[in-house]
Order: sequence, then structure tokens, then C-alpha cells
Amino acid sequence: MTPKDRFTRLIATTGPISVAQYMAESNARYYDSRDPLGSAGDFITAPEISQMFGELIGLWLADMWDRAGRPAHVHYVELGPGRGTLARDALGAARRFGLTPDVHFVEASSALAALQRELVPDATRHADLSTIPDDAPLLIVANEFLDALAIRQIVRTPSGWRERMVGLDGDTLVPMAGDRPMDAAVPAAFADAPPGTILEACPAAAAITAELGRRLSVQGGAALIIDYGRAQMASGSTLQALRAHNPVDPFAHPGEADLTAHVDFSVLPEIAEAQGARWLGTVEQGAFLTALGLAARTQALCRAAPAKSAAIKAAAHRLSAPEEMGALFKVMGLCAPGWPPGAGF
Ligand code: SAH
Repeated sequence: MTPKDRFTRLIATTGPISVAQYMAESNARYYDSRDPLGSAGDFITAPEISQMFGELIGLWLADMWDRAGRPAHVHYVELGPGRGTLARDALGAARRFGLTPDVHFVEASSALAALQRELVPDATRHADLSTIPDDAPLLIVANEFLDALAIRQIVRTPSGWRERMVGLDGDTLVPMAGDRPMDAAVPAAFADAPPGTILEACPAAAAITAELGRRLSVQGGAALIIDYGRAQMASGSTLQALRAHNPVDPFAHPGEADLTAHVDFSVLPEIAEAQGARWLGTVEQGAFLTALGLAARTQALCRAAPAKSAAIKAAAHRLSAPEEMGALFKVMGLCAPGWPPGAGF
């Protein structure tokens, strides 16, 4: 039975399921069954475009650690490390400055865990943050992790706000409004929005940000959360699916396309600060990488491999130009109360 057949049977038996349940189950199946990254997969991420991305993140972490007094014992924690490419490049750069942390990966996918073992053999894997050690500061990285977590959507109907569900039209999965009134969940600014308006929230991203904030304030350390998203709350569905690098209907291929949603960066800083962490700022990826020395790193790599310089320059452009990944992707920095302000914010 294909994943779509399973969803069809489930909905035919029990009725429509929430968009949140649909996205969570679809992505769990999707990530566990394959390596989605790279040209043969469905999408590509910054660390897979160029080693410079991970190297500059490693330098940022090493700089924070150095200015925090070089604590002898420290943990590198990466959420959703994909193939392990970012960790390999970041840890390699950090090592040159004397930073050699214990390595922890929070990863749900067994298919990706096998690839991570090849690139970063000594990483300890965790199903969630609860088992990350609490005995030393944490250096935390998450790139394109929060966008894969399930969002909840509500939709305005002529008779009020309802949870957005996934139901059946014949054999086709379709979004539809649920039965239960959801008016109490609507921010005041949207109370009178016209029928058809969709609002979304990501409870899992909020819960994880709160836990990261709590850990940082108790244990010390710093975090970089990188993702595509918006700086202000806005209406409209951002649920999207990518298959073989092309956008497809998010309800057409459950379990076989990458489902993501824009991260709402406007709500995350105060969630982390409420737990005692410090928000360093949220900046565009292009500005962040430029401030960390992307141009100098590009030149150094080109000098070392002149035959590859066109490809190296093209990768730097893709990571940083506003019309490429530079403006859509944001970098949010967090740290423990006593830690120094981070470079690039
Ligand atoms: N950070 C990597 C991969 C991004 S893809 C990169 O930049 O290339 C999303 C990653 O998050 C994958 O490793 C996926 O398996 C993992 N992931 C998605 N949902 C998860 C969840 N609920 N718990 C743990 N890991 C998850």
C-alpha cells in the first residue's frame, strides 16, 4: 500500500484529519524512507551547496566559545542534521581553533542516520532534546529543521473560524474546514478577516525554541537557528511540497514529497527569552554570511583550486544574493545570559 492509500483509507474510516496530523505523519514517513537531499533527491540545502556555509557556522561557534572563556567541556548539538555535511564542515573549522565538542544529533530518520554515520562517525543520536546531556554548555545549530515540523492551520468560514483539515473528494485528498469552532485561537488583528483567510502556527517550533532557551539559560551556550520564513505574522497558507526540485500540490503525494512551511520568526525570540535566554537578533542569511567573511573564504578557496573558481563563486552567490537564498533565509541567534554577543548580529 502506498502512503497515499494509507491516508485515503484512514480518512475514509475515521473522517478528515487535521493539517497538523497530515503534515506530521507525511513527513515522518518521507524522511524515514529516503535521503531527500541533493540533485537526485527532492531539494538542496545550504550546506549541500558549499562547504563554506558549514565552515562559517563553525567559525561563529568557535568565536563564541573563545570569548566565553573556552570552557573545556562543551556539546555540539545539531537538530535535523540531514547527511551530516554541515556538522562535518563546522566541526572541521572549529577544530582549527581548538574547539572539539562532543557531538549530538537530534534525528528522526533512520535512512539519514546511516549517512550521518559515514560523515560524522562519533556523533550520538537522539530522538528529541530530552536526552541531550545537561552537564556542560551547548553549541546548537538547526538548518532547515523547524520548517519540516507540523503546522496547524485555521480557516475563516462564513460561520466562524475552523481548524483546516484534510478530507476526501472521491480518491483525492483535499483541504477543507473542520466542524469545531476555533474562534478563541484567533489573534485580535485577524478576528474580522474575510472568509477563506488562513492562519497558521507551529506549536512544535514554539516548544523546541522554549526548550532551547531553557537549556541555554541553565547550561550556557549559544544557538543558530537558520530557516526560510517571515519576519511578521501574516495570513495565508505557506504549506508547500517539493518533489524532484519542483513544487507540487502538498496534498497530492503524502509521504513522497517534502512538506514544509515558512517559519514565523516574529514569535520565536520572546519564547526563548521567556525561558531566560538572550536573543542576539534575527538577520538575513546573506548579511550574516557576508559579515562572517564569505568573500574572503570564497577567494581563499578559489586560490586553492583555480579550476573550480567559477563553481565556488556561483555557490557563494547562491547562498548570499538577495534574489537567491540570501534574503528569504533568516538566521536567529540565541545565547546564555552571561555569554558574549555574537558576530554578525
Ligand atoms: N539540516 C540539513 C537537513 C535539512 S532536512 C541540511 O541543511 O541539509 C530536515 C532534517 O530534519 C532531516 O534530517 C530530517 O530527517 C529531520 N527531521 C525532520 N523532522 C524531524 C523531527 N520531527 N524530529 C527529528 N528530526 C526531524
